[in-house]
Amino acid sequence: MKPLTSPKVIREILERHNFKFSKSLGQNFLIDRNIVEKIMEGAQVTQGDRVLEIGPGIGTLTQEFVSKGAEVVAVEIDKNLLPILEETLGSPPNLTIVHGDILKIDIHQLINEYFEGKDFKVVANLPYYITTPIIMRFLEEHLPFTTLTVMIQKEVAQRMAAEPGQKEYGSLSIAVQYYTKPRIVCKVPSSVFMPRPKVDSIVIALDRLDEPPVKVYDRDLFFKLVKAAFAKRRKTIVNNLTSGEFQELGREKVLEILENSGIDPTRRGETLDMQEFANIANNMRDIYSKLKTSGE
Ligand code: SAM
Repeated sequence: MKPLTSPKVIREILERHNFKFSKSLGQNFLIDRNIVEKIMEGAQVTQGDRVLEIGPGIGTLTQEFVSKGAEVVAVEIDKNLLPILEETLGSPPNLTIVHGDILKIDIHQLINEYFEGKDFKVVANLPYYITTPIIMRFLEEHLPFTTLTVMIQKEVAQRMAAEPGQKEYGSLSIAVQYYTKPRIVCKVPSSVFMPRPKVDSIVIALDRLDEPPVKVYDRDLFFKLVKAAFAKRRKTIVNNLTSGEFQELGREKVLEILENSGIDPTRRGETLDMQEFANIANNMRDIYSKLKTSGE
């Protein structure tokens, strides 16, 4: 294997291909062997696994998955990286490089074509502004991944893994933990990249749950409720629910729903755990749907 974390080797390859880094594509390549090993441990890729890698760059992680004997499909948007990937990785039988934008590709079709619709692991190190939308897409579209290992901005990872009462806890924590169990794999200082980005990152692995941890009758309503509860973090739950999306319910009904759910109306959203949100959403369902149909 080529030492693709060596700055000297990277520089030499990039110069030879006259490659220019694109800031807007978030092109910061890993130059630290230790971090590569930690990501590999976190992603838990073993022989025979199907791996979808998003944004392989010059192939630093890709070559690790390939040499583990996984079936690898790597999606790279930048056509200038394709000849580089060909040079660094060759064309082993267990690797397919797909040139495309992960935001535009039909992922269902991709996994049907290459993985015969079977479960797979996702590993991604992408520009920060697309990482959260991509994660949400994997979660909400019910793609059959088992683990999603991503490098993201430190603060976003902390929000995903936060527990009730912590200042980072919010609607993203609940959205992620409704579908997965997050594991913080490692912290990644900006010094391990070429070129060096401005922010520190965290690698987080999201292990898909077989079942959501709470029973929710109306998933849309549940997530609307969670969003509304965190709309103004300093407001109490009753005040957040009597403005915005649920305004039409009126204070009296909101108080009744909270009482039926065993929730003190003066609590703030950030103190409620997922089960408590589920209780409120489930108690609210009939009243809310009546209101919606009468308003139509
Ligand atoms: N995995 C490599 C590493 O760790 O060294 C490269 C990571 S670099 C931060 C991000 C990579 O994602 C770049 O190769 C970039 O061209 C690619 N990329 C950015 N946006 C993309 C998109 N929408 N679809 C697919 N790849 C994308």
